Amino acid sequence: MAIGLYIHVPFCRQKCAYCDFYSLPVRAEAVERYLQLLLREAAMRGTGQTVNTVFLGGGTPSLLTAQQVSTVLEGVSRYFCLTKDVEITLEANPETLQPANLTAYRQLGINRLSIGVQTLSPRLLLPLGRRHTAQQALDAIEWAQGAGFDNISCDLIYGIPGQSLADWQQDVRMLATRGLAHLSLYSLEIYDATPLGQTIADGGLQLPADDLVADMYDWARLYLPQQGLEQYEISNFARPGRECRHNLNYWHNGEYIGLGPAACSYIQGVRQCNKADLKAYEQALEAGRSAVEFCERLDEEGTAVETVILALRLNSGINKESFAQRFGRDLEDVFGEEIRELLQKGWLEPTEQGYRLPWHMRPLANVVFTSFLRTSNT
Ligand code: SF4
Repeated sequence: MAIGLYIHVPFCRQKCAYCDFYSLPVRAEAVERYLQLLLREAAMRGTGQTVNTVFLGGGTPSLLTAQQVSTVLEGVSRYFCLTKDVEITLEANPETLQPANLTAYRQLGINRLSIGVQTLSPRLLLPLGRRHTAQQALDAIEWAQGAGFDNISCDLIYGIPGQSLADWQQDVRMLATRGLAHLSLYSLEIYDATPLGQTIADGGLQLPADDLVADMYDWARLYLPQQGLEQYEISNFARPGRECRHNLNYWHNGEYIGLGPAACSYIQGVRQCNKADLKAYEQALEAGRSAVEFCERLDEEGTAVETVILALRLNSGINKESFAQRFGRDLEDVFGEEIRELLQKGWLEPTEQGYRLPWHMRPLANVVFTSFLRTSNT
């Protein structure tokens, strides 16, 4: 069975004002050193497992030169067996992309780009503290297409302080008409410890009202299918066949290995996460030890709960036959009570193969997920 491989690149040119991820300021020597550590970890964890998706995420992986990306890909292929049709995604920030590095990435076998556009409004880029301009984002898309990328995804954020419905519609429209294969739409999450969180807490900026944020999401999920981008997950839209295979594996509760600080793995029912600190990660690997700092084995019930919750993120929902094949029990035998109750409330709907969230519950998915979580605690 093939697994996914996630490779974390924790460097950024500058911290965005809303960002709560683990990332560090980029320095050339630190990057070179880091790539050696990554390959050391790959050597420790790779035993020739078949890998059908590779995702270089961050941070800002597009800060790596083509030569560095080549070192990583060649390195991991020594320890993992990449399938012929492997999906290789590179996350990129617009200001790091140029025709030359895009062409080189494509030649190396990167076949999917995920570009962090976030918004095309110059006014709204400011509170986010992004380094790029709207024009750089549009240029990056055009150059990527020119370099031969036919599987491009862009991220957009809604619910930005000062954002109107019209601002949002303009962002979505401008991207939807650029022949992209995939769009991810994220509601802005505010973390108190970030500069944006602080500004909002101090009253310097105000978030849009919840109703307006809900309208933004609803408008986009009605509009995008008209442009050929079908919603297939709560936050994700794709042209047919262009769903992100790497993330589909997560949502199908499949196995994956993550390399790098803060990266998590899920193999044979065991979830492990690496230390979220480059220094500690380095020390562990230098000493020939694993960099894992958190490890849990999920029991069968916990795994079943996770499988249902993750599958319900997808429009296709939970498939009864796949569930029975995986757990040797019928879905209704395990979750009959919850399913009956949710169907009665109209929070779940039957499909030909199983169940899924109805349209009106997708923005409220967590409420449904909580019903299944109770099962695992009883
Ligand atoms: S580029 Fe991404 S990871 Fe880096 S600071 Fe900005 S949001 Fe965070």
